[in-house]
Amino acid sequence: MNIVLMGLPGAGKGTQAEKIVEKYGIPHISTGDMFRAAMKEETELGLKAKSFIDKGELVPDEVTIGIVQERLSKEDAHKGFLLDGFPRTVAQADALENILDNLGKKIDYVINIQVDKGVLMERLTGRRICKNCGATYHLVFNPPSEDGVCDRCGGELYQRADDNEETVQNRLEVNIKQTQPLLDFYQDKGYLVNIDGQRDIKEVFSEIDKLIGSSR
Ligand SMILES: [Zn+2]
Repeated sequence: MNIVLMGLPGAGKGTQAEKIVEKYGIPHISTGDMFRAAMKEETELGLKAKSFIDKGELVPDEVTIGIVQERLSKEDAHKGFLLDGFPRTVAQADALENILDNLGKKIDYVINIQVDKGVLMERLTGRRICKNCGATYHLVFNPPSEDGVCDRCGGELYQRADDNEETVQNRLEVNIKQTQPLLDFYQDKGYLVNIDGQRDIKEVFSEIDKLIGSSR
């Protein structure tokens, strides 16, 4: 089962990825992990990637694609994989098609966890942290008993700059703009399955599970 998992920040992609790999025993291949492994193993491409990262530069597509190819060629990916964070662009998606062609594989599903922007905003801006003890709260999912006050130590709660409305809105808009051409690409290929992510974690997973289970 070869899956590409997509979803905007706050859609619950990480949680669902964990559940999928646990149930189906396929490797979770995220871009970050892939880079870290290639650099640790000091493969030629890993060292190349490191030279860009050390300079604070973006890793060029050809290097990233090479690392993906190496990773997907490994034995544990033979029974399937869950790709997360790659591809990010249509060019990378095209390259992935070539890699899989060469390996005699194909994508079974591109699973896109869909959540409305308003709901994502609520999820992503609701975090509050205690200035004193660092305890975290969420205005909707885990509110303190008294507004703005830590239950544990009585400290003052604050919102991290990363979590403020404007920053989150910008981050979401950049992501939406970047993702849409990719969703269109996979829609055209017939791989795209949209899953409603505005339900609880169990229900979302149950739908993904049904989809994967039905095609095994
Ligand atoms: Zn506290």
